[in-house]
Formats: sequence, C-alpha cells, structure tokens
Amino acid sequence: MPEHQTAAILSIGDELTLGQKLDTNSQWLSRRLMDLGVQPVEHATVDDDLERISGAITRLCEVVDLVIVTGGLGPTSDDLTRAAVARALGVDLVEDPRALRMIEAWYRSRGRDMPPANRVQAFRPASARFLVNRNGTAPGLSAMATGATIICLPGPPSEMRPMFERWQSRRLRPPTDRIVRTRVLQTFGAGESNIAGMLGSLMDRDRDPLIGTTASTGVVSIRIRSEKASSTQQADKDIDREIAHLRDILGPLIYSESDTPLPEAILQRLISTGQSLATVESCTGGLLGQMLTAVSGASDAYAGGWVTYSNAMKQTQVGVDPQIIERFGAVSRECAEQLASGGLLRSEADHCLSITGIAGPGGGSEAKPVGTVWIGLASADASPDVRRFLFKGSRDQIRLWAANTAMGMLRQRLDGIEGELLGEAGR
Ligand code: ATP
Ligand code: MG
Repeated sequence: MPEHQTAAILSIGDELTLGQKLDTNSQWLSRRLMDLGVQPVEHATVDDDLERISGAITRLCEVVDLVIVTGGLGPTSDDLTRAAVARALGVDLVEDPRALRMIEAWYRSRGRDMPPANRVQAFRPASARFLVNRNGTAPGLSAMATGATIICLPGPPSEMRPMFERWQSRRLRPPTDRIVRTRVLQTFGAGESNIAGMLGSLMDRDRDPLIGTTASTGVVSIRIRSEKASSTQQADKDIDREIAHLRDILGPLIYSESDTPLPEAILQRLISTGQSLATVESCTGGLLGQMLTAVSGASDAYAGGWVTYSNAMKQTQVGVDPQIIERFGAVSRECAEQLASGGLLRSEADHCLSITGIAGPGGGSEAKPVGTVWIGLASADASPDVRRFLFKGSRDQIRLWAANTAMGMLRQRLDGIEGELLGEAGR
C-alpha cells in the first residue's frame, strides 16, 4: 500500500460555488490532515455538475496520494458524487444489497419507511467500498484509483467528521519518515505587519520550524510548524525553543500558547481567579455578550449585561447622567465611563466593560467619524480605564473590532500589563 504523503480536498455543491455556504469542511479536514502528518496541497470546489466533478477527481488523482471529496452523496438528482467517481474510475454503478439494508435499518430505527428516493444511496462504483454513516443516511465511499486513494464523505459536517475519523484510524497511511508537528500562539494588541516586523528573519520561508501568521480582527495567530525533525521528541524540542524565542520578542502580546479564542482566554482568567464580569453595550448590540456566552461554562464568570441602545435606556438601565449625554454626547469618554461604572454598581460584578460608538455607515461627523468607539472598563479595585478607538471597515467589522478590543482591554488589566492597542486614538 502506498503512503499518503499529499492530499487534496474536493468540495462539491452549487451552494458553495454560488457563495451561499462557506466551505468549512476543507478547513477542518486540512487541519486534521496536518495533525496526522499528511500534507494538504490543494482545495478545489466544483458545482453539482457530473463532468466537472469527475474531471476534478481525475485531475487530482494525478497530483496527490489522497483525494477527499465531500458533499453530493444525498438522494436527490443533484447529488452526483457516486456517478462522478464511477466515471473517473471507468466502472459502472452497482446496487449494494448490504448498503440498502443499512439505509432501510436507519429509517426503521426512527420508525419510518425508507423513501424510495433514498434507494440511489445504496449504489456505489463497482470497485468502491462503502463507509458506514452512523449519523445520517448517505454512506461514504472509498476507492483506489491509479496512484491515489479516493474517499467520499457526506457534506454535513456532523456526518463528515466522524466518518473521516473512523476511516483515518484504519486506513490512513501518513508517511513514516516524516514528522509534522504544529503549535499555535495567539496574540492581541499588535497588527500582523507589526508582528512580522518584530519577528524579522524568524519568518523566513526556508526555516524549520517554519513560522507563519494569520490575522482576524485584532487577533494575530502565530503558527509554528516543524517538519524536518528526525523524531517527534526533536520536533517538540525545536518548537519549544522557537516558542521561548517568540516569548522574548512578543512578551505580553501573547495571550495564549494554544489556539484558545480570546473570549475563552478571558473567561479562563476570570474563573481561575474567582472574578466576574458584566457588560453594557451600545453600538455592538450584545455582540460582546454573545461572544462570551458562546463559550461553554461562561456562567461561572459572566454575570450578564445590558444592551442600552437609546439614550433613555442608558439613563434608566445603568444610570448615566442625562446632562452628560447632553453635554458630551452618547459617544464620549464621559458616557463610556458612566456606562461601565453604572453597570459595575448594578451588577455587583468585579469588572464591567462598556462599548459606545459609531459603527456606520451613517451617523459620522467630522469630530466623531464612523469607526469612533469609546470603550470603558470599570473594576471594583482599580480606577476606570477609558479609551477612544478609531476602527476602519464595514459596520460588521467595526462592531467586531470593538468587542474584541474590549476583551483586549480587560485582558491587559487581568494580566497587569499596559500598552496601546490597535486602533487606539486617545484616552
Ligand atoms: P445529504 O445526505 O445531507 O444531502 P450530501 O453528501 O448530499 O448529504 P450536500 O447535499 O452536498 O451533502 O450538502 C448537504 C449540506 O451539508 C449542505 O447544505 C451544507 O449545509 C453542508 N455542507 C456541504 N458541503 C459542505 C462544506 N464543504 N462545508 C461545510 N458544509 C457543507
Ligand atoms: Mg445533498
């Protein structure tokens, strides 16, 4: 059996090529393959078209050792993966009685008869094998083409992922002579180009471990990847050495030495020190609260919050002085500070974050252009931290920057560090 050194992922579906759905299967599969020591070298996406699907399969089989196809295994006429694989292999489709029984049993266990349409899912290319689907009706497929293994997985991630795991634990053959290890560090506070400047030649493409960055609204992830070490121990040692280096250079910009998202990192710090947080949001309309409560276990630290969109709500809910709003406006240092301190008082939490700003595209002025956001942090045992930011981008981006940056400010306070954050335009 040949090794699987390289892989390609082929995603099928009009909904992907037409931009109605985002292809998250490729991202997930690539990460898993990397962990398993197989190098993903290509992502391809085609619509529900028999010629184009089989053409892509044929082409990819010539360039990689493993082709993973997702989607198009359902029972409808636009589900063409079975036929496309048969065509690429130059074999017929045959009905598999065992698969038919499996699909019938799946329906029976749910107290239903199999709809006649689902019978096509029991067809497979003559030379292919079925992969059991425990989470849906569509069986997967595996087949050998000249030079490559092809596997076909259902489109829904909840069916695709467990089927891939079952297959890889038995059949995946990562190269035995290649050890790939990756680690991720997360930073917040500096831009990607800033970080690249600080790292300098550490980011040269011919180094091993190789260091790369990706940025997402303020969070810059740093990926360290070793693939030339002689053993896993050596690779881990090389990566540890590299991380020590990165710590020296980036210091407090690093908020996590794993791939922990910012909200989770904040909550972990609060929970481990027995502290609580409340929020008062205006222009983010609850986005910060949503990001925090998306983390399971958030209730151990997140008390709750207010969405005070109108001036009246700012006054009645958290007690902002009407004269403050009259004199300085709702988007002002004074208002941000009162939102935070009012929220702190009424929630009895240890910290309260407030956000008030102009997310645009309308509503800006010369003095307060679109993207102006005041963020306040009030804490039971420290003086308030209130800062003005000027974020760029669409309404969505400005709101996301604001929510992330609020967490960035709290993280600075919790870790006892200072420093200007991206977009900061005055305190
Ligand atoms: P089903 O039996 O559900 O029809 P299928 O194998 O035919 O499975 P598709 O019809 O192609 O799969 O896709 C079903 C759903 O799976 C899509 O509507 C989409 O929500 C999800 N899906 C498909 N491909 C992807 C992908 N590459 N990334 C993320 N989600 C996907
Ligand atoms: Mg389908």
